[in-house]
Amino acid sequence: MPMNQIDPGHNAVRNTLRIVGPVIALIGLVFMIVGLANFSLSLGGFGPLPLFWCVFVGIPLLFVGFVLSSYGYMGKVMRYTAEEMAPAGKDTFNYLAEGTREGIKTVAGAIGQGLREGGLGGAQTMVRCHKCNALAPAEAKFCGQCGQSLGKTIPCLNCRELNDPDARFCDNCGHAFG
Ligand SMILES: [Zn+2]
Ligand SMILES: [Zn+2]
Repeated sequence: MPMNQIDPGHNAVRNTLRIVGPVIALIGLVFMIVGLANFSLSLGGFGPLPLFWCVFVGIPLLFVGFVLSSYGYMGKVMRYTAEEMAPAGKDTFNYLAEGTREGIKTVAGAIGQGLREGGLGGAQTMVRCHKCNALAPAEAKFCGQCGQSLGKTIPCLNCRELNDPDARFCDNCGHAFG
């Protein structure tokens, strides 16, 4: 595999561990079996325990051998795990990127809206509804917020209600225009 050629030194160490680890573990296991067997025999009335110390050599050897084996095979396990995790990770990244993009779009849109509402470089002229104060495009006939007719632009001299330009009487108080 080409990936193994990236770090030959590390690879050699790992290969050594893969051999040495199990060998040490095996030796430890043998020591432990000999020691335990000796222990059992001694319990069976076969005298003192001449080889019982083998257990205390075997357990650490087994442990060390197991740890060395783990280090030797860890790269393989981790690479496998990384490969397994990669698609999910990519999805998560895409999801986050998507979210960020949407967020930026939302913020940018809000800024654009603010600029337009503030009249700073807005391509669209906005008019403010005299009833609810909502902003509506200048060409709109009715307020998108409250439905108030935006064509009413003539204020009544009596009650200040806005009326259609061609109205003869105030919609609100009946005050006659003209
Ligand atoms: Zn309105
Ligand atoms: Zn009026």
